[in-house]
Order: sequence, then C-alpha cells, then structure tokens
Amino acid sequence: METILFLAHTEADGTLGKAGLESLSAAKTLAATLAGSQLVVGLVGADVQAAANQIAGSGATRFLGVAGADFSQARYSSDVIAAEALGKTAAATIIIGPATSRWNRVMAGAAQRLGGRIDTHVTGLSAVDGKPAVTRWYYRQRMEGVLTRTQRPWIVLLESGCSAAWSGSAGSTTIELLPVALPAQRTTVTGVQAPASDAQTIRPDAKLLFVAGAGWTKKQADGQAHPDEAEKIILSFLGKAKASLGSTKSLVDLSGEGQAVLKFMTHMNQIGQTGATPRHPKGLATCCHGEEPHTVGWRFINERRAINLNPACSWAQGKADVLYVADSFAVMSKVNELLASK
Ligand SMILES: Cc1cc2nc3c(=O)[nH]c(=O)nc-3n(C[C@H](O)[C@H](O)[C@H](O)COP(=O)(O)OP(=O)(O)OC[C@H]3O[C@@H](n4cnc5c(N)ncnc54)[C@H](O)[C@@H]3O)c2cc1C
Repeated sequence: METILFLAHTEADGTLGKAGLESLSAAKTLAATLAGSQLVVGLVGADVQAAANQIAGSGATRFLGVAGADFSQARYSSDVIAAEALGKTAAATIIIGPATSRWNRVMAGAAQRLGGRIDTHVTGLSAVDGKPAVTRWYYRQRMEGVLTRTQRPWIVLLESGCSAAWSGSAGSTTIELLPVALPAQRTTVTGVQAPASDAQTIRPDAKLLFVAGAGWTKKQADGQAHPDEAEKIILSFLGKAKASLGSTKSLVDLSGEGQAVLKFMTHMNQIGQTGATPRHPKGLATCCHGEEPHTVGWRFINERRAINLNPACSWAQGKADVLYVADSFAVMSKVNELLASK
C-alpha cells in the first residue's frame, strides 16, 4: 500500500499549470492501479486555496499546503523546506510532481532531506507486478527503461506532455496548512528576468516543430547568400505560427566557422543525435538535408514534412511523409503572406 503525494507549486495566478495537472492525472491513475493506495495533495504557493479548489474533484483523501509570501516564487532554500514538510506530514511513500524548472532544481535536495530517492525526466508511471514503476529514456532517447525502486519515499518528476492533463470538476476544499518556519533567508527573489515570450524560440508545447537547416545560409540561385532575408522569413513565421524552432548541427556550428549565421539560433535549438529529441505533433524541415544524425531527433514527431530543392535529399528516403521539392525562401514567404492575411 502506497501513500502517493501529488506535490505541486502554484503558478503566478494561484492556480495549477498544465504540467501540474498532467502529473496529477498520472498520480491519480497510479493510486487507482495500486491496491489500497491513497492520493494526498500537497501544494506550495503564496495562496494555495484556488489551486486546491481547482482539483477538489481529484479524489484525494487529504489536501495539505504550505502557503505565504515566502513561497510565492521559486527559491531553493524555502521550496526545499516546504517539500520536506509536506512529504513528512503526508507520510508519503511516493511523491509525484511535474518536472518544472522550479521542481527540477529543488527535489533532489528534498529527496536527500527525506532520506528517499529521486528519478527525474520520467515519461510514464505504471504498475509492474503490483509494484509502482517508472519509464525513462536513456542514451539520448534510444533506449527506454522501466524501473522500480524499493526505497521510500520515492520522488518522481514527470516530464510535461507525457500524460493527459487532469480535467475533473472544481469545488471547495479544506486545506491543512502546515506551519513552516523558515530560517533566515540569504536569498531574496527580486524578480524574474526572462526573454519576452515571442523571443523564446524553443516552445516545448508548440504544435509544430519548424527546423531550419544550413541551406538558409548557403548561396542561392543568384549566387549570393541571403541570411538577413532568411532571418526575417523564419522569425516572421515563428511569430505567426507560434512554432518551436529547431536546427541542424551544421547551421548552429556555422558561427564557429565565421560564416553568415542566423543570430537567434544557438546549440540549444539543435535537434538530433547530439541535440534534442522534442515531442511535437507535426514537424516541418526547411533547407535541411535530413541526414540520419539529424532525423534521429525526430523520433517523437508524428507528422513530418520537408521543403528541399533536392528531390534526392535524405527526407525523400522515407523519412518524411511529404517532401515539397521547392525553394524554402519562396514557400515560407508565401506561407507568411497567407498567415498574415488570416
Ligand atoms: C557524430 C555526429 C553527430 C551528429 N549529430 C547531429 C545532430 O545532432 N543534429 C544534426 O542536425 N546533425 C548532426 N550531425 C550532422 C549531420 O550528419 C548533417 O551534417 C547535418 O544535419 C546537415 O545539416 P543540414 O541539413 O542543415 O545541412 P546540409 O547538409 O548542408 O543541407 C542543406 C540542405 O539545404 C537545401 N537547400 C539549400 N537551399 C535551399 C532552398 N532555397 N530551399 C530548399 N532547400 C534548400 C540543400 O538542398 C541541402 O539539402 C552529426 C554528425 C555526426 C558525424
């Protein structure tokens, strides 16, 4: 019998975000699968009542909270104490939370304080022979492992997009607020500095992955390279379609070679064997040859299309559902025009 603590922090508006709701549905399903288990909710935030009401219909047997101005923002030294208090009070044997940047930073420390173990980057939860098990990918998403642990408490951080978000009914809930005394804090959170959401090109929740390859910076039919035009076309498309931007290794490596580059592109955008393996329903590759070390990073992209001048490019070898043999500059300019007129 397990006591499963769903542990989440509230968002700026006091409610639970999508990643939190996904973890809740995974925790609830696990609790229902493991005979005799119970689900407890633990919330951290400035005020946790709205979040507790939001998930009143989750079937949790207890709602615990750590609330106050000190817990409104991400800060290791206060978050770790809140997580520890909630884990202990719930007498949790399994703690499931979303793999947000806030929790990713703090939960290993909480596991240490609780004398437990932690698995991060988990992509699924299940029961194997009546025992809880988690799924993780290894070796750059090539091997999937299913593992169980005997140590308790066992903290599990679930990646976003791996479970349906819980969508049950709201209500009103009574929360047991824990009195948590913080030692003198050396760190004061004065605010958050982040790029404007439009400047952020990596968008894990986007419906479309837009990949730009090195072709965007290569000499075109007129014998000239047009990186400035490429930059305008790509940024305009990303702004309109709210797509996530991926790249090939060749393109992100070009800056090191002193060649004309797309200035907003970094190694963080690289998709492939030595890059990322994102999850999006659709992908569109432009000016990208589609070589194996790149396309291996497309394994979780369901519907794939590519635009390439070369009908014999690697996308044509069964790697894309649709290959448009065309000029990406022309096609994407037309797409932008159509999107602008919508
Ligand atoms: C160990 C190892 C690991 C690697 N890991 C990765 C990785 O993680 N990710 C990765 O991406 N690569 C990786 N690579 C590199 C990979 O093999 C390719 O070299 C790279 O993906 C090629 O990038 P590209 O398609 O952008 O460039 P190119 O091969 O130069 O292709 C450019 C394409 O653009 C097309 N093009 C040009 N102009 C236009 C136009 N106007 N319209 C339409 N099409 C046009 C051309 O026809 C061409 O097909 C790795 C290689 C090795 C050896």
